[in-house]
Amino acid sequence: MERIYNFSAGPAVLPQEVLEQARDEMLNWQGSGMSVMEMSHRGKEFMGIAAQTEADLRELLAIPTTYKVLFLQGGASSQFAMVPMNLLRGKTSADYVNTGEWSKKAIKEAKKFCSVNIAATSEDKNFSYAPAQDKWMLNKDAAYVHYTPNETIGGVEFHWVPDTGGVPLVADMSSNILSKQIDVSQYALIYAGAQKNIGPAGLTIVIVREDLLGQTVAGTPSMFDYKIHADNESMYNTPPTYAMYIASLVFKLLKSKGGLAAMEQHNIAKANALYDCLDSSAFYTCPTARENRSRMNIPFTLKDAALDEIFLKGAKEHGLAQLKGHRSVGGMRASIYNAMPIEGVKALVEYMKAFEKKNG
Ligand SMILES: *Cc1c(COP(=O)(O)O)cnc(C)c1O
Repeated sequence: MERIYNFSAGPAVLPQEVLEQARDEMLNWQGSGMSVMEMSHRGKEFMGIAAQTEADLRELLAIPTTYKVLFLQGGASSQFAMVPMNLLRGKTSADYVNTGEWSKKAIKEAKKFCSVNIAATSEDKNFSYAPAQDKWMLNKDAAYVHYTPNETIGGVEFHWVPDTGGVPLVADMSSNILSKQIDVSQYALIYAGAQKNIGPAGLTIVIVREDLLGQTVAGTPSMFDYKIHADNESMYNTPPTYAMYIASLVFKLLKSKGGLAAMEQHNIAKANALYDCLDSSAFYTCPTARENRSRMNIPFTLKDAALDEIFLKGAKEHGLAQLKGHRSVGGMRASIYNAMPIEGVKALVEYMKAFEKKNG
């Protein structure tokens, strides 16, 4: 069977070249006589893979040497707790910006550790926009400011970096990391589950300013202490070895394709193609504010929700899969991460136009 165009929000499409290389190396990685899955994480082979994975990520994001890069497990959801446990550093409150489902989960978890000040929210318009900086009510004594640069469910993306007046900025970049160039030094901590834009589920990446480590709240388990992972180069326990290997293949591919500047152009072109289709039609509607439209996750509704099932069934028949929207938004959602080729977006647009002609 041919591969389909997979618009899943996550776990999501991976580059075909990466899957092919993983297949070719499945039974015998580079003459080692074994699969990467079977290697000791402390053996020479895997230590080499791990070092290269980190080096390539550092190069792609131009991560300053004053930051640690951690390869953890537990998903972005574990970070919702690990961030306050590690970054409160004796303070009693933190600022959170609430722009949707993932922000809400981060806030709920943080409330177990500190008082949470909602510095800004877009709840008034069903989380369809990113509150402008001048609407933020920041607390200068906050331990940190947490926000979600790309809300995967609502399809709301910040195309600017908040100014927190020196308070450490924390970003849940699960669904837009590596989609564009960023200046890591503007953040105190960036975290991301891998299964959207990096690799397989099971790997969580944390990039954190070194000077913030080592002041966890009392009772923090070792596995939740960034400093312990940093001091042990993410080998305090067994890291997600195979997921790291796949991530390393993705990083290598991104580098060979011109890095994040090229990826950004590729993603802008794809997003524009889909938004142009939505904007030129009275049949489809995108609920997101124009200036906050995500380049990664694009929700849209059909004129008549009764057509949703027919749309999805027809899409599947055209090799366009996983387009059903999240229940909180309804309608459709096309996730078009780095690994989605422009041909996939063009095929979707073509299908949408034909569907509108027939049912509009
Ligand atoms: C998917 C996602 C999460 C949850 O990730 P898990 O790895 O499943 O815990 C958190 N935040 C954002 C923005 C996401 O897209």
